[in-house]
Amino acid sequence: MKILKFGGTSVGSPERMKKLLDIIDPLQEQIVVLSAVSGTTNSLVEISAKLLKEDKQSALTLINALHTKYNEFVTELLPEADYLSQGKEVVDYHFNFLSSLINDLFTPIEEKVVLAQGELLSTTLYHIYLKSIGVQSVLLPALDFMKIDEDNEPDIPFTTEKLTPLLAKYKGNKLFITQGFICRNSFGEVDNLRRGGSDYTASLLGAAILAEEVQIWTDIDGMHNNDPRIVKNTKPIARLSFDEAAELAYFGAKILHPQSVFPAQKYRIPVRLLNTMEPQAAGTLISTESERGKIKSIAAKDGITAIKIQSSRMLLAYGFLRKVFEIFERYKTPIDMITTSEVAVSVTIDYLDNLENIIKELHAFGSVEVDKDQSIVCVVGDFSAEKHGYAARVLDAIKHIPIRMISYGGSSYNISLLINTEDKTEALKSLHNRLFE
Ligand code: ADP
Ligand code: ASP
Ligand code: MG
Repeated sequence: MKILKFGGTSVGSPERMKKLLDIIDPLQEQIVVLSAVSGTTNSLVEISAKLLKEDKQSALTLINALHTKYNEFVTELLPEADYLSQGKEVVDYHFNFLSSLINDLFTPIEEKVVLAQGELLSTTLYHIYLKSIGVQSVLLPALDFMKIDEDNEPDIPFTTEKLTPLLAKYKGNKLFITQGFICRNSFGEVDNLRRGGSDYTASLLGAAILAEEVQIWTDIDGMHNNDPRIVKNTKPIARLSFDEAAELAYFGAKILHPQSVFPAQKYRIPVRLLNTMEPQAAGTLISTESERGKIKSIAAKDGITAIKIQSSRMLLAYGFLRKVFEIFERYKTPIDMITTSEVAVSVTIDYLDNLENIIKELHAFGSVEVDKDQSIVCVVGDFSAEKHGYAARVLDAIKHIPIRMISYGGSSYNISLLINTEDKTEALKSLHNRLFE
């Protein structure tokens, strides 16, 4: 069994949806994971924001505009009257539901239900389309088998337990379709795996059923060696190790959800990144193997805050870092980068909800300095084979840019630099010219 995930642009128009059958072979055993039609989740986020602010009129205007778009979408997707009426019924059902929320209390619980509508729509419409052209498929409700716990951690054994009998029930069927992104939380409420989460769904499903392979079909021919939205002449990378891909995804390569590599890595399921617009292109294979001794790619993650704690109590003391880390742990705030000197420690975070409380508690140790609007630039490759020279090349490439923190040696795949976000574009370009051109 393979898992094939198609992102928003890959299902972004009726024409694109129809073309998926150039890639999906209905005779092969597979679970097809679909994202929402591109733009839909953004619209649902906007609708929720209006409803949270009780701006009912603006919410209704946005709901109606999206409804019109979906009416056009099904009209083109399903030209035959019977199927068109089935499609319209589905669209009306979801939009009537959205409109019905206007007059009720709207909380973050309802917001999650609103965000789920995109994937529910895309999968149901695709299922009807396949039926309309005589292709047999089974629509599996992700809310029945995708689950996160109170720490937002996915529960893979639960997925295995629920999905295995479901697949067995439809024995003889080969093509299964399900929603990316959506899941239930520990209260049983509708929730999601955060933006871009359909990649994560695919990887989790791959792990849960020990799939032969996970394929992430998107709008570019694999992981490139730099962010193609910022740097010209980026190139696809043929092979990455799980560790390298995980670092890139975590540190900002948008092609993969930040956590999506870990389940596949843990269960050793190869992941291929492929281009829906150019299905023949080789793409990127992520597996246990990789090309040794090479700098592979550069990524950047914005929205980072650096915190420096300076304390003479750190001098020759043990247990100091533990006490600092405990504060972050208590506020469920992950630390990304860390650097230390004899009397100070700097850490970075990107989850800022508890920043004020954290700072207040850190003051107990000494002075605290906070720098906002920072970016982590991360150079990824295999730095184990030949240790010398890489760090010097990286630093030399950006010697004209002020660096707030440097992290090297934490793993043998990554050199991370913390810089002001306003310098990010220049840093990515300079590193690219120096390391790849
Ligand atoms: P999907 O909707 O299919 O999930 P995304 O927009 O989430 O697609 O991810 C694909 C996009 O990621 C590409 O169009 C590209 O602009 C962006 N991207 C950022 N960094 C990289 C990178 N290093 N390699 C490839 N694509 C990248
Ligand atoms: N539709 C969701 C989003 O836009 C999930 C995804 O596309 O992966 O974030
Ligand atoms: Mg994505």
